[in-house]
Amino acid sequence: MEKTRVIEARKGESVGRTVQVEGWVRTRRDSKGGFSFLEINDGSCLGNLQVIADGALENYESEIRHITTGASVIVRGEVKSSPAKGQETELHASGVDLLGEADPETYALQKKRHSFEFLRTLAHLRPRTNTFGAIARMRNCVSRSIHDFFQEKGFLYVHTPIITASDCEGAGELFRVTSLDLKSIPREKDQVDFSQDFFERPTFLTVSGQLEAEIFACALGKVYTFGPTFRAENSNTSRHLAEFWMVEPEMAFCDLEDNMELAEAFLKRIFRDALEKCEEDMQFFAGRIEKSAIETLEAVLQAEFLQLSYTEAVDVLEKSNHNFEFPVSWGHDLQSEHERYLTEEKFKRPVILYDYPKTIKPFYMRVNDDDRTVRAMDVLVPRVGEIIGGSQREERLDVLRDRMLDQDLNPDEYWWYLELRRYGTVPHAGFGLGLERTVQFITGMANIRDCIPFPRTPGNADF
Ligand code: ATP
Ligand code: MN
Repeated sequence: MEKTRVIEARKGESVGRTVQVEGWVRTRRDSKGGFSFLEINDGSCLGNLQVIADGALENYESEIRHITTGASVIVRGEVKSSPAKGQETELHASGVDLLGEADPETYALQKKRHSFEFLRTLAHLRPRTNTFGAIARMRNCVSRSIHDFFQEKGFLYVHTPIITASDCEGAGELFRVTSLDLKSIPREKDQVDFSQDFFERPTFLTVSGQLEAEIFACALGKVYTFGPTFRAENSNTSRHLAEFWMVEPEMAFCDLEDNMELAEAFLKRIFRDALEKCEEDMQFFAGRIEKSAIETLEAVLQAEFLQLSYTEAVDVLEKSNHNFEFPVSWGHDLQSEHERYLTEEKFKRPVILYDYPKTIKPFYMRVNDDDRTVRAMDVLVPRVGEIIGGSQREERLDVLRDRMLDQDLNPDEYWWYLELRRYGTVPHAGFGLGLERTVQFITGMANIRDCIPFPRTPGNADF
């Protein structure tokens, strides 16, 4: 018999086909007419397939009438058009095999609604709910758009390392990687003797693939990395994870203007695909999670992103009569409340801030002629705030070396990074987009911990 998935069986063109469907029972309802309805979901789409199991089936009394929420089944039968509202088809079963029961006394996912906090303690079961099924499909859709967008534009996908010896920008935010025995740490004078560690030096989990992506951009032109990144910042916010996925394009012969243009086109492609390819899931998010989810994406697609210098933004914020928790002043990083004010209230569209004070940005960002600001950019969107951070990179050897010294970094440790400037240097630029913040923005989910299958945050690494 032909195997099919619920998404196919739900389509009108499947009427008349004899198929086999495999999935999990969401609900069972018995009719007085001596048959039962089973709602089956297999994750292929949000909607369930309604199965009609007739009382004449040989295991009807012994098994089917005892099937409960969460049980796994294989159903064979004919797809017929359905008289019921909200579904084009239904499956008239010629056989129902019960594979695995789910004892309703103990199975946690009963029909009632559960809080997202509670479901986080059930990360092994939550993908079986409507919300987490929809988020999983959306993550997949966004990941695919990311590859499609860059591949169509001729970018090369490069794989940068997860274990690194350079602490790029994350002083204090790094997870250490070691195979030393913590019960007897080798010491040299007062210091840990890392020469006895696995890599014979201190190593960490990467906070970004950028530096290595630059190596490949400065050879192959346009590249991107897409992988996990790690930050040990102890921030218990709704927008931070200790492990998250980041996409980082890096382009040679490219300046900050090109970079901003690419970031806007990239985000719009992802949002358009979300609306078009995950239409049913988007309707679910708009219905159940965030009323404005679809309108917000549509508005962003129509809008031209506003480009505003950091200095202008500070001016706008200082002149606003808005009551901020944290004060605004030139030379300090903007807080999330400031970013959200700009994009949500003041300009009501995505805002790209650029040219930040050089004292608050890492050494690799290109210094402007004013010698006070660097060619950094952040893309801000409503609800989430910063979704992209990027910059034009410093391509002048002497300036770059001075910036390292300014920030107490040892240029010798970055000899290979400096050599990119010594031999055949070119203007280049790139940015990082957080995958989970993107999913959070699209879906309207309040907490980023619900936008990744297995969130890692301070105190949480279960599953
Ligand atoms: P923020 O100021 O919001 O903490 P950041 O400036 O430290 O972010 P970048 O280093 O610019 O972040 O990283 C690029 C992108 O990666 C961010 O714009 C965001 O989308 C994502 N990102 C950064 N840190 C995290 C995190 N802890 N959890 C999830 N996503 C993150
Ligand atoms: Mn940033």
